[in-house]
Amino acid sequence: MTNYRALRIHNDDQGYRTRIDTLPVPEPDAGQVLIQLSHSSINYKDALAGTGRGKILKRFPLTGGVDAAGIVVASRDTRYREGDTVIASGWGMSFDHDGGYAEYLCAPAEWLVPMPLGLDARQAMILGTAGFTAALAVDRLKVNGQHPGLGPIVVTGASGGVGSIAIDLLSQQGFEVVAVSGKPACADWLRRLGATRILGRDELPGGDRPLEKAVWGGAVDNVGGAVLARLTRTVGAHGNIACIGLAGGAQLDTTVMPLILRGVSLLGINSVDVPYPLRAEIWQRLATEWRPKHLEDILTATLDLDALPEAFERLLAGQTWGRLLVEIR
Ligand code: NDP
Repeated sequence: MTNYRALRIHNDDQGYRTRIDTLPVPEPDAGQVLIQLSHSSINYKDALAGTGRGKILKRFPLTGGVDAAGIVVASRDTRYREGDTVIASGWGMSFDHDGGYAEYLCAPAEWLVPMPLGLDARQAMILGTAGFTAALAVDRLKVNGQHPGLGPIVVTGASGGVGSIAIDLLSQQGFEVVAVSGKPACADWLRRLGATRILGRDELPGGDRPLEKAVWGGAVDNVGGAVLARLTRTVGAHGNIACIGLAGGAQLDTTVMPLILRGVSLLGINSVDVPYPLRAEIWQRLATEWRPKHLEDILTATLDLDALPEAFERLLAGQTWGRLLVEIR
């Protein structure tokens, strides 16, 4: 093939828009790998980038998609050979470099992870950045001393990609998990994934005092804003909060009291530029002992490239749940 299709994000005098473009297949430079992609996925950030509702891209036009998986067709790096199946996620994808919404991706070898045994490209992209981030959060919680004896873990933005996978991971590792969701219709599904209790977004216990009654052992927060502030006041002694997202706001209005009087830790989670050893280890765990038990339940839609713009709108309108897989060929 000499040309390939890609969902390109343009921003010029005709406005901010996406469209399918046909481009010449690139030749990899030294240190780069050319991948024929089979799957990608939709994350919150992809929807922000695709609609222009978040400032995600540093230059235009670019191919969208922070996730990609496929087979190496040409390599100018000794770590990868033709025929290897690989995962690419984060780094410069859909930021200052083309991303995964395309039939081909040419990327620096250091952005890639070899497909771990036990996962294929489709399963890896059901997980995608959302699954990687959820696992990174669970890893950081545990490294920082979180254990089931500290009490239940509350997961906010529970019906989303990160939230639903976090529920699966935490519950299979012995934690009691309480899901906070704005989608009552998802309650049974969240229970099937491993949540023991479901709270509405306005049912989070606690008020606005610097310290409120401690009710959580720890938290995985995808929402930010007032929700995260309330979590800081209600997590118990030596508990941890994995701070992942801003679906509800980027402000954080709290005090140092929970940190200095309860020893609560606020753990920042950044999935984008995790160095290779940890990145490979997290993917390895997702393929083996941490493998989500409900991967096929977490997958709620499979789309092609043409369906992406409409799916971005639905995701930002709160009309999706679980993970959205992109099948490229
Ligand atoms: P999804 O869209 O799949 O999930 C987001 C969920 O957040 C929704 O399903 C919804 O859950 C909840 N939500 C949405 N809008 C609001 C709102 N206004 N107020 C409160 N809750 C809301 O996104 P992802 O799972 O892909 O990402 C979740 C968050 O994590 C995003 O903010 C994203 O940017 C961030 N993220 C950060 C990463 C990092 O490296 N730090 C990596 C990946 C994601 P419900 O209806 O159940 O309440």
